[in-house]
Amino acid sequence: QSPILKVENLETAFDIEGKLYNAVDNVSFEVKPKQIVGVVGESGCGKSVMSLSVMKLLPKGIGSIRNGEVLFEGKNIAPLSDKEMNKIRGKDISMIFQEPMTSLNPVFTIGYQLQETLFNHMKISKKEARDKSIALLKSVGISRPEKIVDEYPHQLSGGMRQRVMIAIAIACQPKLLIADEPTTALDVTVQAQILDLLKEIQEVNNMAIILITHDLGVVAEMCDEVIVMYAGRIVEKTDVDTLFHNPKHPYTELLMNAIPKMDEEVETLSTIEGIVPSLQKMPHAGCRFANRCPKAMPECKIMTPQLAETEAGHEVSCLLYETSKPKEGAMV
Ligand code: SF4
Ligand code: MG
Repeated sequence: QSPILKVENLETAFDIEGKLYNAVDNVSFEVKPKQIVGVVGESGCGKSVMSLSVMKLLPKGIGSIRNGEVLFEGKNIAPLSDKEMNKIRGKDISMIFQEPMTSLNPVFTIGYQLQETLFNHMKISKKEARDKSIALLKSVGISRPEKIVDEYPHQLSGGMRQRVMIAIAIACQPKLLIADEPTTALDVTVQAQILDLLKEIQEVNNMAIILITHDLGVVAEMCDEVIVMYAGRIVEKTDVDTLFHNPKHPYTELLMNAIPKMDEEVETLSTIEGIVPSLQKMPHAGCRFANRCPKAMPECKIMTPQLAETEAGHEVSCLLYETSKPKEGAMV
């Protein structure tokens, strides 16, 4: 089956005081129709920048795609203009974020914001748009949608607002939904409900989902494939069963140990010592995880590991594996 999204050698840079820094470095992956692909890593690992690159929503004048391709249904959308992207965003590819209060406009009703998306991409009457809005709210599990449609975002709970965001995102039946930490701001019970809802609409609408999270527990529950990112690079990539039964990268192993237990509410991966290096402090050579890695060897600070298959369908970037050692003459 050919992928719905294929990202190839994506490189996204940020301009900080006139100097360019790679926030996403040579990232390649694909998403097949109806797949849920998890992208996992701590904050600052480039997950959000990667997805904003795909959507072409990078901060203007600061972030830019420097290299690579973003193939949506075989067509490279990386060079498209804003105007051309507006036809794709919200229609073929949608995105939901962590904090729905900031993505919903406080001065407009829920119904208005749903209908705005519908009018952008469809030729329908006001009456049809209102009816469709109510049906959409119902489809995301909102009770009394006829009432909610005329309410404002602040009148709803966090969980309800996220349901509204999902309704807006799926209004035009996109083929791909990018969900960036969709449940992180919600309490545990509501988190579970929103994840169930995402799974349900994925099945009903036959969508693919890229699910960005810092929580491997969420990945285990939801995803088919998983990409582990560290400091702008992919360090491990495989299917979910393989990752959980046979994690190979030391960073993945640490993430596994940091999976929040059901009875704790953990927002950060406090069990991994140290922090992700900031863009300006990224080491120029060697493995970017070297200063935190419990298995680091002397060569890890000199040799840059390559992402390569250690076995079929399992890619790892770590010098513990022969396959990741740079070829002769390619020492960086
Ligand atoms: Fe650790 Fe070295 Fe592997 Fe990097 S390359 S993850 S520092 S063992
Ligand atoms: Mg993020």
